[in-house]
Amino acid sequence: MQFDWNNIDTVLLDMDGTLLDLHFDSHFWLEYMPRVWATRNGLMLEDARIKLLSMLDQHTGTLNWYCVDFWSAALGLDIMELKGQVAHKIAYRPTAEAFLRRCQQESDDVRMVTNAHRKVLELKIMKTNIDQYFDQLLCSHELEHPKEDAEFWHKLHQLKAFDPQRTLFIDDSEAVLESAARHGIKHIYSIAQPDSSMHRKTPSRFPMLNTLA
Ligand SMILES: [Mg+2]
Repeated sequence: MQFDWNNIDTVLLDMDGTLLDLHFDSHFWLEYMPRVWATRNGLMLEDARIKLLSMLDQHTGTLNWYCVDFWSAALGLDIMELKGQVAHKIAYRPTAEAFLRRCQQESDDVRMVTNAHRKVLELKIMKTNIDQYFDQLLCSHELEHPKEDAEFWHKLHQLKAFDPQRTLFIDDSEAVLESAARHGIKHIYSIAQPDSSMHRKTPSRFPMLNTLA
């Protein structure tokens, strides 16, 4: 895959599942959290997992889904402390750093646009130093809308104008990519395997990258 760098000024990149292995996040929510929650509440592991997933499902695509404060209150657990306990699993996807260096060479407007909460971003920066590759790091909480919403893109534009026709955007969420496409972003790519430990379950209507480099 060759990007059309001559026609790209702005690079917008998702973090989890795009630059960092989604395995950390899926392990945390699908394995680690059900175990902790089951132990604390005297539940069977499978019951805890089902209950937790149905709670998560109710908030899909909203800021709550991505909000550690929301889940700490809803579950009565310190989510950031628990994430810290499995932080050794935070890792780059293969070739992500080489790709980020290339982005820096090709563009002077490289922005991270993530639905991750700022506290989670800080934890990931601590483990990866990923901030060094960006001109700007934006959490959707601070724009008050997740990337799935049109309002996110309007606010992003207000913060610092960019030409959607000359913008590259890479993300592993189909709903988010659709939202970017509705905003008129031209160069849109998806990720073939966001989580190194499992195969992607759903197809994408956007070109899928096997590797970033
Ligand atoms: Mg993602």
